Amino acid sequence: MARFRKRFWDPTGARYGTPTYPWRCAPEGLMTRRQLRAEGLRPGGQDPAAQLMWQSRARGLRVAYLYRVDRARTVRPMTPGRHRALAAAMRARRTCPDCLIDRGYVISVRLGTCVPCADGFEYSATT
Ligand SMILES: [Zn+2]
Repeated sequence: MARFRKRFWDPTGARYGTPTYPWRCAPEGLMTRRQLRAEGLRPGGQDPAAQLMWQSRARGLRVAYLYRVDRARTVRPMTPGRHRALAAAMRARRTCPDCLIDRGYVISVRLGTCVPCADGFEYSATT
């Protein structure tokens, strides 16, 4: 086991290019995305500071990125105002700029309009 762990012990990143630690040996102040999440935190746009490496019997060589806890941000709670803003943004993306109908799907950026407008005719309403 000791030899196994040593293989992934590379705090300077000399071997792997990124500071690397064996599974369960992450230094203080670094957490995986899942560990941050459990604390109500998220990486917040920072690049991984280091990585964990371990050999999984089932899935082979595994890597998990480690983020600095002091640079992590709190997960923003979903407030009613934020929920409304998100819903409005999604509605805008579903609304065709030509016929102004909420199509129930996101309008294709490539077409620029809903499918009936892009096709040049309106389908008979079935809903
Ligand atoms: Zn349309």
